[in-house]
Amino acid sequence: MTDDLLLRRAATAPGFERDLAIEGGRIVAQPGTGDHIEIDVEGRPVLPGLTDHHIHLLATAAARDSVDCSPAALAAAGGLAAALRDARARRPEGWLRGVGYDVAASGPLDRRGLDPLAVGPIRIQDRTGIRWMLDGAGLAELLPADPGDWPAGVERDGADRATGVLSRLDGWLGERVPRQVPDLAALGAWLASRGVTALTDAGAGNGPGELAALAAAGLPQRVTAMTRDPEVTAPEGVALGPVKILLDDADLPTLDDLAARVGAAHDAGRAVAVHSVSEASLVMALAAGVGPRDRIEHASLVPDDVLPLLVEAGPMVVVQPALVRTRGDRYLAEVPVEEHRGLHRLGSFVGAGLRVRAGSDAPYGDPDPWLGVAAAADRRTAGGQVLGAAEALTPGGALRLWCDTLVDDVVVLDAGWDRLGDSPPIHAVVARGRWTQVTRQRGY
Ligand SMILES: [Zn+2]
Repeated sequence: MTDDLLLRRAATAPGFERDLAIEGGRIVAQPGTGDHIEIDVEGRPVLPGLTDHHIHLLATAAARDSVDCSPAALAAAGGLAAALRDARARRPEGWLRGVGYDVAASGPLDRRGLDPLAVGPIRIQDRTGIRWMLDGAGLAELLPADPGDWPAGVERDGADRATGVLSRLDGWLGERVPRQVPDLAALGAWLASRGVTALTDAGAGNGPGELAALAAAGLPQRVTAMTRDPEVTAPEGVALGPVKILLDDADLPTLDDLAARVGAAHDAGRAVAVHSVSEASLVMALAAGVGPRDRIEHASLVPDDVLPLLVEAGPMVVVQPALVRTRGDRYLAEVPVEEHRGLHRLGSFVGAGLRVRAGSDAPYGDPDPWLGVAAAADRRTAGGQVLGAAEALTPGGALRLWCDTLVDDVVVLDAGWDRLGDSPPIHAVVARGRWTQVTRQRGY
């Protein structure tokens, strides 16, 4: 179901406004004679919808259901109360689950600490995995009314009431807490609010079950999914992407094995997308027959002498520029200095004529594409260092990595063109032919 839209006064380039007609989900040169929903965007920048070219949707949605309660995460979130309230705001109903709580570092925790926060029902696992801490709402849902029926491991206070601490009751809890299906719809809505109108799911284990789940979610985005096996049919609503081949540096296949897998995918009419985060795996992938129709995922370490081989083979390279921001300090500390210039290249890829696209790699990276655009343009780490200044792109050039030849979806910014590299507020998106005004802007 799509609308026929006429966006009045759309700035499709700085200083250039036009009316933009989108009919049946396609941008058309001339509006047809039928009824249009007319929307005046008042000269706001209108960009092609963003594509996250590498994301793990199911894992990202599942990760959102767990609150990281490790000392570092709590410090970053402004404390336990702030972290839990934020998680509750993102998931208004059902159980919250916290993991990684460190009693030694963050202090003892039981229902007396949790109840005043009124975020329940909630269960928080301590970092040893032995104990769970529940609030009163959680206890009320799970514990039998008669304390005589409680399992051993339910800690009691002097008045024989449950304190909320449960020891070695993992299995018991698992049987009783309702299972939650990862909330893909909430993830899709959030991504749309950041201007993401298309997604490529890079799940290495994707099979019929995962494809069905992605199709059933009814995401606002156009979804392409990689798969583990070449012989898979995609359900309606999901496009088939490349065959994903994950090269684990600790357990690399033989060159013959890899070449056979690449060949089998090509024989089945599929491209391959090879995960490579090292020089060895990249050289191997290129030797195994990865070519212009294929993709290299990450290409996070490409020494000077390997770059020409990559250019000659000509695969698309799918990068994660936000990792410069989120992991750059660690790279600078841990990767030998002589390898720094080969880390998370951008400018030298683009300059060499490679087709470069970007993704978030969420949940292993932050799903916000604008963090990646900003990091691609300033190459700054969270700690304020610069990693590979020569690899920086302009904000507009960086944004192009999230765009695709498919330009039928658009993002309407609520800021000027000068804000491209500065996480601009989003006014609305048109995804799959539907206009959606963006009202909330928050982290995922
Ligand atoms: Zn990935």
